Amino acid sequence: MPLNTQLTKLLGIRIPVIQGGMQWVGLPALAAAVSEAGGLGILTALSQPSPQALREAIRKTRRLTSKPFGVNITLLPTINPPDYEGYARVAVEEGVRIFETAGNNPGPLIKYFKSQGCIVLHKCTTIRHAKSAERLGVDVLSIDGFECAGHPGEEDIGGLVLLARAAKELKVPYISSGGIADGRGLAASLALGASGANMGTRFMCTVESPIHENIKKKIVSSTERDTVHIFRTLHNTARVFKNKVSVEVVKIENRPGGAKFEDVRDLVSGQRGKLVYENGDPDYGIWSAGICIGLIDDIPTCKELLERMEREAEEIIGKTASLITPRSRL
Ligand code: NAD
Repeated sequence: MPLNTQLTKLLGIRIPVIQGGMQWVGLPALAAAVSEAGGLGILTALSQPSPQALREAIRKTRRLTSKPFGVNITLLPTINPPDYEGYARVAVEEGVRIFETAGNNPGPLIKYFKSQGCIVLHKCTTIRHAKSAERLGVDVLSIDGFECAGHPGEEDIGGLVLLARAAKELKVPYISSGGIADGRGLAASLALGASGANMGTRFMCTVESPIHENIKKKIVSSTERDTVHIFRTLHNTARVFKNKVSVEVVKIENRPGGAKFEDVRDLVSGQRGKLVYENGDPDYGIWSAGICIGLIDDIPTCKELLERMEREAEEIIGKTASLITPRSRL
């Protein structure tokens, strides 16, 4: 029995799972593999050095799959401010119709995508932000709990409470994000009223993920205790893998008098983090990881992963339903 939800209908996908934007990881090979496997693959715009390079990446993805895929644009502080509008325009010109937005002040971008008839999924870490994104006309909210990799916001609310609040307060469909790595997480998300789940870290550790094998093996051997928050004191909190560099960053942030971004800039630079994925040294720089890292113990293909999740979720939903004894038989 397929898991048909508002999300699968809206996006034209088979399995209600999205591979959310991931800097340096959301490249054509992975996005296409997820879409081919029945989920929604997403290219991360800022992983491309220019809008023109994004155009090429979109064309490459289309050569790899005829299924729908999306593009992520994340608006957060950056060392070199990107041409967000240029990336957005190119993706629309190339016929992309599904966008994932995230970060600060997404209003103009959302307005632009909606004016072009696109579907917008917006990532939020609070119900307050979710409601204002709803007013901006987004189609789906991606509710990002404290468990997530990357930027969880500053309010530290776990997915369980955020999603239950979303069920009570939101009018548009929403998906869970943060802490999901298996069919249990997907079934739990659906039980919490979500129309599907977003996964990042889990997809990093698949055959088609474009990162060094050593990092995939490191993910497999790590536990839920192996991530840490950096940038807490700079109000740009990010959950990353706990390694020599991230521990050093936290130490600098916590020294008397605090730290300015410039004090950690060289340690945290995305260009340095990118080399982790290329050279396979997990201690070389900063790389994002969510606490669901503790649930990951293999490196499947995207197809194996999604089929397994679908099967597990269906079994759990079936078992849960069988717990209910009709009142007439009590
Ligand atoms: P970068 O090299 O510009 O910056 C490295 C890190 O420092 C990022 O986390 C960034 O948010 C943070 N940062 C930069 N300037 C800052 C400042 N003045 N104050 C506080 N923090 C600051 O980043 P990058 O690796 O080239 O990535 C580009 C952008 O994409 C960043 O904003 C990053 O956070 C964001 N990002 C996107 C995704 C995604 O899913 N699309 C995932 C991770 C990061």
